[in-house]
Amino acid sequence: MDLRISDVICDSIVDGPGLRMTVFLQGCTHNCKGCHNPSTHKLDGGRIVDTDYILEMFFKNPLLDGITFSGGEPLLQPKPVSAIAKAVKEKGFNVIVYTGFVWEKLMEDLNSFEKVLKYTDILIDGPFIESLKSYDLDFRGSSNQRAIDVSKSLLSGAVNLYEF
Ligand code: SF4
Repeated sequence: MDLRISDVICDSIVDGPGLRMTVFLQGCTHNCKGCHNPSTHKLDGGRIVDTDYILEMFFKNPLLDGITFSGGEPLLQPKPVSAIAKAVKEKGFNVIVYTGFVWEKLMEDLNSFEKVLKYTDILIDGPFIESLKSYDLDFRGSSNQRAIDVSKSLLSGAVNLYEF
């Protein structure tokens, strides 16, 4: 399945706990002021790869703890992101997804996003807000963004924060 990406980093320690593969999706419509990844915004930029290409790279590295989808906006490509997340999760690895959407917005259209959320352990939600930028936050850029325990939150119907 096709996936439009900006880049892949095979050994990230800044996009979640442990050693991770980070896939930077191409395409974002949030236009956060001060975004540190503006080259990922163009919807037809980046390059197209097959989801199997990402999975082959992932499973080649026995040291990885999990995969992170960043961007760009991963939830603009829910089908291929879900396919990769499912395959990785079924082998016992964890999945983190960054999104510029807030959790409450995703819940309004759960049908569109459930296919990704059901294979996601931690969702970092919300846009980057420059005035709330902080270097003291675990794996987040601004203090409005939350690390959400997805399975607990889906089960309870309320946001449950994830403690790193
Ligand atoms: S959601 Fe992320 S990639 Fe998109 S504009 Fe905001 S900070 Fe940049």
